Amino acid sequence: MQELTFTAQGSSLVVTLTPNVLAHFEANAQRGGRSEAGGQLFGTFPAPNIMKVEKATGPVSAYRRFWNRIILNQRADQREINAEFEKGLHYLGDWHTHPATIPTPSPMDYQTFQSRFQKSTHELHAMLMVIVGTNPFPGGLWVGLQNNSISTKLVLPYS
Ligand SMILES: [Zn+2]
Repeated sequence: MQELTFTAQGSSLVVTLTPNVLAHFEANAQRGGRSEAGGQLFGTFPAPNIMKVEKATGPVSAYRRFWNRIILNQRADQREINAEFEKGLHYLGDWHTHPATIPTPSPMDYQTFQSRFQKSTHELHAMLMVIVGTNPFPGGLWVGLQNNSISTKLVLPYS
């Protein structure tokens, strides 16, 4: 799988999903009645406007998983954030699956995105949120940024 690069329209911000991360999404795509999967996203900032996602984690056993919902675990997540930081990877945001071909956030997702941004300890201007659907990527991906008040959907730069 080749890396995918997304951007916000009218912005110089670039988000790169590396092959490693795309493979983790693909392996957890919600096909055949599986429960929702999800976890955290980690990576680096090669430049101030570039967010490079190098690792997707989860789902870990502390999460509660249902067909249409996943409940992350703040303590487990913070432990993971600390451990990844020791390895030089920054917490960038979260991902989860939907049993849909082309995923879009539910009203509850938008609330969760906002509370994750507000309640997590981080120094991000915006947190990355990815939803993984069942279609081949990039069509089967929803990629967005969440700040204190708004969600912005990102698009492929050359589509
Ligand atoms: Zn969702």
